[in-house]
Amino acid sequence: MSTVSASSVAVAKSHVNHAFQKCLNIDCNATFGIDEVRTSCGKCGELLDVAYDWEKLPVPTKLSDFEVMWTRRYEPLRFSGVWRFHELLPFAPAEKVITVGEGQTLLQQANSVAKYVGIRPGQLYLQYEGMNPSGSFKDNGMCAAFTHAHMVGAKRAACASTGNTSASLAMYCSVTQLMKAIIFIGSGKISYGKLSQALEYGALTVQIAGDFDDAMARVQDVSKELGIYLVNSINPFRLEGQKTVMYRVLEALRWESPDWIVVPGGNLGNSSAFGKAFIELKQLGLIDRIPRLAVINAAGADTLDIVYNQRNLRWNRGRPRMDIACWYYDELDREKRKADTIASAIEINRPVNLRKCLRALDFCDGVVRKVSDQEILDAKAQVGAGGIGCEPASAASVAGAKMLRQQGVIGMDDRVVCILTGHQLKDPTATVAYHTTDQEKFNEVLGSRGVSRASYANRAVAVPNELDAIVKAIQLYS
Ligand SMILES: *Cc1c(COP(=O)(O)O)cnc(C)c1O
Ligand SMILES: [Zn+2]
Repeated sequence: MSTVSASSVAVAKSHVNHAFQKCLNIDCNATFGIDEVRTSCGKCGELLDVAYDWEKLPVPTKLSDFEVMWTRRYEPLRFSGVWRFHELLPFAPAEKVITVGEGQTLLQQANSVAKYVGIRPGQLYLQYEGMNPSGSFKDNGMCAAFTHAHMVGAKRAACASTGNTSASLAMYCSVTQLMKAIIFIGSGKISYGKLSQALEYGALTVQIAGDFDDAMARVQDVSKELGIYLVNSINPFRLEGQKTVMYRVLEALRWESPDWIVVPGGNLGNSSAFGKAFIELKQLGLIDRIPRLAVINAAGADTLDIVYNQRNLRWNRGRPRMDIACWYYDELDREKRKADTIASAIEINRPVNLRKCLRALDFCDGVVRKVSDQEILDAKAQVGAGGIGCEPASAASVAGAKMLRQQGVIGMDDRVVCILTGHQLKDPTATVAYHTTDQEKFNEVLGSRGVSRASYANRAVAVPNELDAIVKAIQLYS
């Protein structure tokens, strides 16, 4: 598909000779240079992977070798929670690497959430990616894609976004002043927290009359036409950065694999990246045990759940029957069905990384589930009550873990890591509506999505502006 001229590229060849881009289609296997700008295979049109000649690269012999990187935090490369694992995503020469200090995130034991999910205390962890500079896990991938864009001399970078990708891209552009951000959003679907970031960081914001899937299709056409660098998760370099979320999880568990990784599924970039991380770690002999992967859709955007669980689409040793997905997309078109969920970050019906996600599910003995908006918001309230908080899409992981626990798929003693993909303040509308005392407001925001109750609402107490009444109310409720 799109190939932007790479003539002005000055990438240190010695380093990048050992990294290349490789077609995911095993019947094609075409490879492309690391300095080529592509979003798909030039021969067959499939997705691309970033691949490495590991034998020729300096890879640590054990994962604990990375611990020493903490002591070198004065180096930009080691300051970042992504780049301190540079040896495991070695596509860029060190001097080209761009960081704003992303990936300094934490794995937190969350016992109140464990109780809610039905897991023994001490066994449930939340990987809080909302702590990234732009407030979502997207920074992990964006610093990698942005680094690649910088390597090839791009001056403009674009994405379609449900919000967090655009916030992240806009941030990298404004902090570094290296590129102009051009973001495509659908009409009416983006949360104010995310939109406000893109606007304030100065991105050129193009609002399309359509939904995310429409914006995604348009941005690909426009990038091709104008030779703009595309940073959606169709971009294989994004996924390289997102692998590091798993490295940090392993690090926090002293390099012991958990039993489960539970992650929300939208465009399926995260799940794909996590799978690739484990495939490579295993291949490099750096881990023995592979965690199982659970990918959680919202019920209103459940393509993966349908094709995986109902139509049996599988990786099939590298030859997945992608026509199963195509037929499903035709059905969606015929019936004019659009994705619809309160979890706007995963409100996606045509996940671009589907094929890669199938590989991840295959390698990690994965499962797929879907959860309702009601389950998402209840789980979100519980995560918030536990003191971290997250945006609606993130809570799908906790809701999904609870469902899998109830089904007996996850055991009570299993060690479970739920990925909290985005910050609580990204989407206050849903949170405030959930906790409101105003039934009309509740119905307006949530009722249309089949949310009928707020079981864990913490409602404001209305009192007259009188000392006695206020004192009485506080005594009554505390
Ligand atoms: C982008 C995003 C997702 C979806 O992740 P994918 O990698 O596209 O599956 C989930 N949650 C949040 C908060 C996001 O921003
Ligand atoms: Zn190909």
